[in-house]
Amino acid sequence: MRLPEDELAALEGASLLRRIPDLDTSLVNFSSNDYLGLSSNAEVKKAYRDAIENYGAGSTASRLVCGTMEPHLNLENSIAKAKGSEAALSFSSGYATSIGVITSLLSKGDTVILDKLCHASLIDGARMSGATIRVYPHNNTEKLESILKSVTKKANQDSRILVITESVFSMDGDMAPLDRINKLCKQYDCLLLVDEAHALGVIGPTGMGLAEELGIQDQIDFQMGTLGKAAGVAGGYLATTRVWADLMINRSRSFIYSTAPPPAQAAAASKALEIIQSEQGSQLRKQLLNNIESFRVISEIEGSCPSAIIPWIVSDSDRALKLSAELRENGFLVPAIRYPTVPRHTARLRITINSHHDETSIKALANHLTSSI
Ligand SMILES: *Cc1c(COP(=O)(O)O)cnc(C)c1O
Repeated sequence: MRLPEDELAALEGASLLRRIPDLDTSLVNFSSNDYLGLSSNAEVKKAYRDAIENYGAGSTASRLVCGTMEPHLNLENSIAKAKGSEAALSFSSGYATSIGVITSLLSKGDTVILDKLCHASLIDGARMSGATIRVYPHNNTEKLESILKSVTKKANQDSRILVITESVFSMDGDMAPLDRINKLCKQYDCLLLVDEAHALGVIGPTGMGLAEELGIQDQIDFQMGTLGKAAGVAGGYLATTRVWADLMINRSRSFIYSTAPPPAQAAAASKALEIIQSEQGSQLRKQLLNNIESFRVISEIEGSCPSAIIPWIVSDSDRALKLSAELRENGFLVPAIRYPTVPRHTARLRITINSHHDETSIKALANHLTSSI
């Protein structure tokens, strides 16, 4: 039998061993996805506390068993409204959403087409569904079209074809050509799922993501995301039509066979969504964009993508670890991201900017990085 010790030693030898680091709050955190600082927002925390008092600590069962509590319904109503969809369904995490939604939609005989850089949860959902998996090179819509051509030619009447992309990619921070992808899906009569995990709160007139920015929310079959990143709380969501949502309620195993998230979590997430869409949310986004711009200017990174994720690619895993350790010595928390989270030989530091970073630390980090080249 293979011993776990040997497996861990092999990982360590390749600079790929992972440990859960202690959270060192003395470091300036350039690694969290709390883009607007909402995890420590006073109103969000109050909504959490009040809901604990009103509804208790946990939901105690699946919603299909015990019946639904008000905060989950309120959350789903506000998501549907914000996303311009008929219905929404909340899950315990973004990961559970990806798996639940994709496996409910697809089975053997169907086809799922993913961007090469899609998040692990989307890949896992695709694998678990039993559908045929096709992958197109990152953001390459020509290749996507050629796959769509060949797949739709062969598909029978009943089978489903689902295209999956993120809107802002989690490890590269770049954006999908979503307008073009959406048009191709319409042209070839396929379904489209967009994971807005890193765009919610950051992009769009009311912070609802790239689909909102492009004005195409009502054209996207499945808009999903997490409430654990810019929303600062936890949980996942799917916004879609009533009939698809009803199918998810009947088929989605991560929804059916899992205790519903605590009602207080749903109440806090609703508050966070409300803030994201408010004037306060716009102000936070403005601050965030200023911070991103400052960092880009000082570290001489080109481009104008408004995403808060900035990859600093160093290729080699060992070098990424060393650079991350060096930054830690200097007071910055910036994680090294390695295979298999990113493709081999593209190890990097993943810098995330948030609205609460001050000018001094942004400058200091950028200067450290540029002098490390
Ligand atoms: C983080 C992330 C998820 C998972 O969301 P959680 O709520 O953290 O489980 C799903 N998709 C993408 C693109 C993500 O970045």
